[in-house]
Amino acid sequence: MGGKTAVPEERTDVLVGLEEYCREVGIELDEAAADGMRAYWRMVLAANERMNLTRITGDLDAVLKHFVDSLTVLLTGLFSVGARVVDVGTGAGFPGVPLKLARPDLRVVLVDATLKRVRFLETVIGHFGWRDVQAVHARAEMLARDPETAGTFDVAVARAVASLDKVVTWSVPLVRPGGHLVAMKGPEVEDELAGAERALRRMGARVADVRRLALPREAGRRTLVVVRREP
Ligand code: SAH
Repeated sequence: MGGKTAVPEERTDVLVGLEEYCREVGIELDEAAADGMRAYWRMVLAANERMNLTRITGDLDAVLKHFVDSLTVLLTGLFSVGARVVDVGTGAGFPGVPLKLARPDLRVVLVDATLKRVRFLETVIGHFGWRDVQAVHARAEMLARDPETAGTFDVAVARAVASLDKVVTWSVPLVRPGGHLVAMKGPEVEDELAGAERALRRMGARVADVRRLALPREAGRRTLVVVRREP
C-alpha cells in the first residue's frame, strides 16, 4: 500500500491557522512540521471515510482540538533530544504523530488495541519514511508486562484513553525509573487524581505536576497530569 496516493497535492488548504494557534500557546512549528501535519491530516480525513478514526472533522476544530491540543505535551519540557516516547491508546495518532512531526528527533511507539487504526498508522509511517516510529497493535497492559518493552521509555503520553488510575497502571511500568507519564485530561481532574492514589502508590509513582491550560479561541480547558516513576 503506497500511502502517498491518498494525499492530494494541495497542502495548504487544511489546518488553516495552525502555525498561529501553536504560537499562541508557545509552540513554534517550522515549515516542514506544518506541511507534515497538513499531509497527515489529509490522510486521516481520507481514511475516516472508510473507518471510524475521529469525530472531529471541522478544520478549526481539528487545528485546536487535535493538533494544538496534542502539541501542548511539549510544554512540559520533558522531551529531551532523542527521547523514546510511547503513545498509549493513540487512535488515529494523537498526540504521537503531531509530536513526531514537531520533534523529528523523538523515537515514538504508537500503541493501540484496534488493528484497523494500527494499519492506518503504518501507512502514515510509510508515507513519511520514518524508521524510528513503530505502530504496535497491543493492549497497553500487555506491553507493560512484556520485558522487551517495560521500563524502556523516557516518556509515556496518553490522551482520552481511560481514567487516570488505569492510565497510570498501564503506562507507568512502560517508562524507566525517573521517567514520566503525561496524562492529557479535561478541566476537572480532582476526582480522578483522588481515584488514582492507590494506583500511583502501587506503581511507585507520584504526581509531579498538574498543569492547567486553555486552548485558543475558547476551544476548551485542559489539564496535563505529569506523573513521575520514582527512580
Ligand atoms: N489518543 C487518541 C485516541 C483516543 S480514543 C486521541 O486522543 O484522539 C482511545 C483509544 O485508545 C482507542 O483507539 C482505543 O482502541 C485505545 N485503547 C483503549 N484501551 C486501550 C488499551 N488498554 N491498550 C491500548 N489501546 C487502548
